[in-house]
Amino acid sequence: MAVAPLDLLDLDDLLTDEERDVRALARRVVDDKVRPFVADWYERGEVPARELALEFGKLGLLGMHLTGYGCAGASAVQYGLACMELEAADSGVRSLVSVQGSLAMYAIWKYGDEQQKQQWLPGMAAGELIGCFGLTEPDHGSDPANMSTRARRDGSDWVLTGGKMWITNAPVADVAVIWARTDDGVAGFAVPTSTPGFSAREIKHKMSLRASSTGEIVLDDVRLPDSARLPEARGLKAPLSCLTEARYGIVWGAVGAARDCLETTLAYATTREQFGRPIGGFQLTQAKLADMTLELHKAFLLAIHLGRLRESAGALRPEQVSEGKLNNVREAIGIARTCRTILGGNGISGEYPVMRHANNLESVLTYEGTSEIHQLVIGQALTGLNAFAS
Ligand SMILES: Cc1cc2nc3c(=O)[nH]c(=O)nc-3n(C[C@H](O)[C@H](O)[C@H](O)COP(=O)(O)OP(=O)(O)OC[C@H]3O[C@@H](n4cnc5c(N)ncnc54)[C@H](O)[C@@H]3O)c2cc1C
Repeated sequence: MAVAPLDLLDLDDLLTDEERDVRALARRVVDDKVRPFVADWYERGEVPARELALEFGKLGLLGMHLTGYGCAGASAVQYGLACMELEAADSGVRSLVSVQGSLAMYAIWKYGDEQQKQQWLPGMAAGELIGCFGLTEPDHGSDPANMSTRARRDGSDWVLTGGKMWITNAPVADVAVIWARTDDGVAGFAVPTSTPGFSAREIKHKMSLRASSTGEIVLDDVRLPDSARLPEARGLKAPLSCLTEARYGIVWGAVGAARDCLETTLAYATTREQFGRPIGGFQLTQAKLADMTLELHKAFLLAIHLGRLRESAGALRPEQVSEGKLNNVREAIGIARTCRTILGGNGISGEYPVMRHANNLESVLTYEGTSEIHQLVIGQALTGLNAFAS
């Protein structure tokens, strides 16, 4: 009899009852509101972001690890488990929630003043307002310190000029957290997307993360009062700290995508017959299944270790999160590709989630710091030597 991959090591025993409840809640909402539809959204390259945000908001999944302002105040592991279930359905849907909670809301929660928090956070927690986070630019991705977007003072106002690229949720956002260079270093702004001069166009023809809205933002002399500037954000370490938050969710999310691939593949391999027997009965298939299961278990254990560390220490060091993101996304994409081979021709069909997960994970491998950048972060922590630039 086949066993669910995570059950082989009794990994559920590592969770509390409350954590299992949060996981069940997230699993229920994706089973009802995402799984039946997501293959179609992916194929059409569209996602009903507003409807989903409202559903997720009702259940407290938006900014769920934050406190106050309508946020759920969940623990690190509870938040991680929610990301795992969301990404088991689709990385794009998890991205909607991560960008909302860990990037846009976190930036305002951590670096905003009381008036900004009151203005944005309750509506964002409820899913009535959608946020995005604009750091990457067309010419500056891995190296945001060289960003071109400028914010200059004009009387008591700020005027933002420049552009941002590959911004999740931008075409559907009500508020964009925009990072720009000022005379005093990098600053963050909570920009209402209705401000004249702000525009966001949908990036079309993506082959990955198609059930997610991704945009290019143009800032054409966007005039803002000083009250839009996040007063506590000083320098590049502010957006980088938001990325550390969001990467933690990815550590868990990748486990979800890999688990979904493996569960799909186990069900397939035990029923699909060739040469008169189930393909799961062939030794070569079993070797693949066993190796993938080991990597899935290791990824889960790494995620829960980082979660417990964060709960006890209050925060994770960037290199710790880099280790989780690098390992778990790299292994998840490997699992997705190997699962694809076991599904044979059916592996390329949208009838099964495996190729969609594999394609999505290409984006996850790149965004929030590419694998190479995480290798460099870990390398620097190990050696004390900075290899980012010559
Ligand atoms: C679907 C999607 C959604 C995204 N959402 C957001 C978002 O919401 N907000 C946001 O701000 N950004 C977002 N991004 C942007 C993402 O974070 C960047 O794509 C990523 O940081 C890489 O930047 P780049 O694409 O410019 O690649 P580049 O920085 O040009 O890198 C290209 C290659 O060069 C390598 N490289 C670069 N520098 C070095 C070095 N020093 N040493 C070794 N190798 C190096 C990289 O690892 C990579 O392999 C998103 C991207 C995608 C694809």
